[in-house]
Amino acid sequence: MVDIQADQPAVDEAVRQLKGGGVVVIPTETVYGLAGRTSDIGAIDRIFALKGRPLDNPLIAHVLDSAGASSVAAHWPDSAKALAAAFWPGPLTMIVERNQNIPARASAGLDTIAVRAPQHPMARAILKGVGEAISAPSANRSGRVSPTSAEHVKADYEGVREAADLLVVDGGSCGCGIESTVLDLTGPAPRILRAGSVLASQIEAVIGPLVGGSLPMSQVASPGTRSRHYAPMKPVIRVETGDVERHLAGSTDPVVVVGGSDLVVPSPHRHMVLSDSPEVAARVLYNHLRDADGQPGDHIVIVLPPDTPAWQAVRDRLIRASVSESG
Ligand code: AMP
Ligand code: MG
Repeated sequence: MVDIQADQPAVDEAVRQLKGGGVVVIPTETVYGLAGRTSDIGAIDRIFALKGRPLDNPLIAHVLDSAGASSVAAHWPDSAKALAAAFWPGPLTMIVERNQNIPARASAGLDTIAVRAPQHPMARAILKGVGEAISAPSANRSGRVSPTSAEHVKADYEGVREAADLLVVDGGSCGCGIESTVLDLTGPAPRILRAGSVLASQIEAVIGPLVGGSLPMSQVASPGTRSRHYAPMKPVIRVETGDVERHLAGSTDPVVVVGGSDLVVPSPHRHMVLSDSPEVAARVLYNHLRDADGQPGDHIVIVLPPDTPAWQAVRDRLIRASVSESG
């Protein structure tokens, strides 16, 4: 059975298992990660197998700081140094050229590698204890909603034979609640591959203009940007605000509607209110989606928040989780 442990003994046990070639689940401020040492090919293979992650979807290497990043990168550019100074530790992942000493499998065979310094104190304590980079994709099974609590991880792996005895270090609920911003620094100009809590405008304030501004959806270089991703089990239908009433009128079963506080959702349907604050909405988003999955009704309805830069990341995850009613 999945083994949830908290506090210092959990950190010590995670360090012991990672040093011994194991794979453990660690809390970060974005989402929970399924972690193994970046230098350990056996652990990397186990991460892909346990998650059921496609072998062409590269992992993020987690480090303490710029010095740690320099050890996985062939070259740590000035732009990365400046961004690390501004946003690390924090939810910004940077893609740079991979150091040839790092196994190619750790970035799905690419010559580049994604690097981030997490902020969560337990993730940092584990990194210090292990003394080297740790690769960790989101700990959900592939294609599903990322876990933002130890209980989510347990729910995903309960009954999975290969995950028997999997250690989950319980660090509480994740503060950001969605995956990091992914920024590619290897092209002719930097560009965002995945929206996250660090906004395009904040990055531009440090290193100047990005290619494509804040439009990660137009990018295809990052396998995790495939559409249908981060999705609950039930079909999720995206409905325009003005069409919610009509949509619900056609549904005899109760339906969960995830959307802003201004929506009117008649009973027996249920309104799961998306906060008016993008930060708060992001923090509880995956909890809402998992919750909605567990409610009666054969589908989930979502109404997107406004199309503004501050909502980009939440909109991106909701769009990937859903299909539009209007096709
Ligand atoms: P996850 O760890 O599950 O949050 O996913 C990591 C994300 O970073 C995925 O979207 C990956 O495709 C992306 N990523 C990781 N490494 C690279 C890389 N070297 N080049 C492009 N995208 C990457
Ligand atoms: Mg993921």
